[in-house]
Amino acid sequence: MNYQYWDPQIEKMPRKELEELQLKKLKEEIRFALRTPFYKKRLSGIGINSQDDIKTLDDLNRIPFTTKDDLRDGFPYGFLSIPKEDVVRLHSSSGTTGTPTVIYFSRDDLKRWADYMARCIYSTGCGKNDVFQNMITYGLFTGGLGFHQGGEEVGMLVIPAGAGNTARQFKMMQDYGTTVLHATPSFLLHLETKMKEAGVDRESLVIKRAFGGAEPYSEDTRKRIEALLKVDVYNSYGLSEMNGPGVAFECQCKDGLHIWEDGYIAEIVNPDTLEPVKNGEIGELVLTILCREATPILRYRTRDLTAFYTEQCKCGRTHRRLKRITGRSDDMLIINGVNVFPSQIEEVIMSMKEVGNNYLIVVEKDGALDRMTVKTEVSADIFMDDARPLNALKEKIKETLAASISISPKVELHESGSLPVSEGKAVRVKDTRPKDV
Ligand code: AMP
Ligand code: ZN
Repeated sequence: MNYQYWDPQIEKMPRKELEELQLKKLKEEIRFALRTPFYKKRLSGIGINSQDDIKTLDDLNRIPFTTKDDLRDGFPYGFLSIPKEDVVRLHSSSGTTGTPTVIYFSRDDLKRWADYMARCIYSTGCGKNDVFQNMITYGLFTGGLGFHQGGEEVGMLVIPAGAGNTARQFKMMQDYGTTVLHATPSFLLHLETKMKEAGVDRESLVIKRAFGGAEPYSEDTRKRIEALLKVDVYNSYGLSEMNGPGVAFECQCKDGLHIWEDGYIAEIVNPDTLEPVKNGEIGELVLTILCREATPILRYRTRDLTAFYTEQCKCGRTHRRLKRITGRSDDMLIINGVNVFPSQIEEVIMSMKEVGNNYLIVVEKDGALDRMTVKTEVSADIFMDDARPLNALKEKIKETLAASISISPKVELHESGSLPVSEGKAVRVKDTRPKDV
């Protein structure tokens, strides 16, 4: 195969040199970290007061892990390391109530992020002649702008289509001759269903590739999308705390995601003991960013479960590969690409006095898309035979949830005491989506 490298010198850099580069960049990152209120306190507490206190990559192990809660506690500026006038953008993570986790970017940070994204996109064989339809949410979510800038950096014609509205998506694919798509894997499958319904002939489209990310999916799902849409599908992994997409991506070999080790230091630890797992074993991915000055984050617990491949990829890149993310070490749900914690739902419904004591969140597949139903009991003084107040309550729950978690679930009301009560730990979530990862 004729492999494409965006930055061959870096992508095929011998491991020893790559590690030297990591150390150099880590020291730089520590210099920025020491300018943030959060890390200044944390690092000085363990005797790191200057970047020169980091002598080898192993010194990273002395630094405690950073968690999502730390980021929330540091809101809004606890992790900012440059003067505010040098910040040009912020993004924040989905899946948080009240206090979001926010990431700031300098102009150079954005350039670097676009460059990593370009590296990802180019490594799948795309180029200047491609027309790229970015069918993912723009806005605070990083998937939209991240891929957008990367696509432009490669020189593709980028269509900022945004998510949803399949009829409009097909029209754009036909009008502009789209060759590359980006969407969540569930939306890619949904697209195929809609294509049949809308009577769109695959022959009228020239799509060749699709990037699928933001949520877990299995190899079988990839194969299914590839067979149905007749495209090559590449897995894209990232998280807003680490810029967003562009952290790890599949190359033309489609066999694991190269994590860009000149931009991130990756560790995999046992989520219970927090000790490193043996090479090749599954554990929780911990990441240190090396390519951002405005918001340094060291040893971030991603909660994503994965493993390293132990062999080098056929494409010749020396950056290690991650296995598909197989799940999370916390209870976060991903509904059509949007992160939701069950605790966010509980917070909303339990604050309403009309709501009773028991609830259940059901997640299932509705065709290709995910569907969430929130079943909740009503308080004992509400009669189930009076439809009007019940409908009003349903609407109220729905709207408040939509405002809080950015998705609008189905709401079902049940008589007080009628939902099943488990004898042990309460079961609040029933996720019936096939676990085929
Ligand atoms: P966000 O910070 O909102 O971009 O969400 C990031 C989270 O989405 C990650 O921590 C993963 O749990 C999930 N995610 C992103 N990309 C993938 C992928 N390719 N496979 C599985 N999960 C993913
Ligand atoms: Zn490769």
